[in-house]
Amino acid sequence: MSLTFDNKVALVTGAGRGIGRAIADSLGKAGVTVICVSYSESSCGAAAQAIVDAGGKAVAKAVDVSDVTSVAKASEELLDEYENVDILVNNAGITKDSLLFRMTEEDWTSVIDTNLNSCFYWVKGLARPMTRKRWGRIINISSVSGIMGNAGQTNYAAAKAGMIGFTKSLAKELAGRNITVNCVAPGFIKTDMTAKMAEAALDKVLPMIPLKRMGESSDIANMVAYLASEEANYITGQVFTVDGGMAM
Ligand code: NAD
Repeated sequence: MSLTFDNKVALVTGAGRGIGRAIADSLGKAGVTVICVSYSESSCGAAAQAIVDAGGKAVAKAVDVSDVTSVAKASEELLDEYENVDILVNNAGITKDSLLFRMTEEDWTSVIDTNLNSCFYWVKGLARPMTRKRWGRIINISSVSGIMGNAGQTNYAAAKAGMIGFTKSLAKELAGRNITVNCVAPGFIKTDMTAKMAEAALDKVLPMIPLKRMGESSDIANMVAYLASEEANYITGQVFTVDGGMAM
């Protein structure tokens, strides 16, 4: 099935590498104009350039998504230029794992700010024009940690579970304006984020995955592309786990 995107503009955070880069690439291939957001100019610049080199439309915008002022300023600038951002993918995220008694306040706050508060900042910045256009897609990248919990990740699991509550509540608020809001919850996906996991920790995780392997960034990007398309117009307030069966 080919997916329908009719002159749409998408903003993908954390588009410089990993899952965000795969999401940006797949939307770019589908003809969507992609605004690639990342922390550093060089990484989102390279992601946008790759889409353009492949014949698509993309621009780069370096924004620290954990900073409310930066997100508000970037949103204003983008809406001046594009009038409307139709598809918002809140993908940027970080982990700062440790057991609770060793977790610092900075570890807690930075993980909540980057994963969860950033969603609130971007929606505040970009959703109002979606309501006027009566079309919008908001897709938040959560995690199976937010569903199952994970020792050593109280900060991250709280942020990712918070994204699920945020998604369901926002879906109810925006449904009347034909804006859908959904979460995708990846399991263990091969990216820089999981590359820093110790081999012993990975050895413990693989037996918990019925498909007995880690996922690829493209597995997440495929789900996001579907949820962003016209074809997903009757799906809202849902959490889709893409995890090889881990959180069944
Ligand atoms: P990654 O570390 O490879 O990439 C994260 C991206 O987010 C990078 O481009 C980074 O620059 C960007 N980023 C981080 N902080 C930022 C900030 N303050 N401002 C702007 N950009 C920022 O991670 P990934 O594995 O591709 O993960 C993407 C998303 O998927 C994250 O939200 C992550 O929590 C989630 N996730 C990943 C996995 C996995 O197994 N890889 C599993 C579950 C959920």
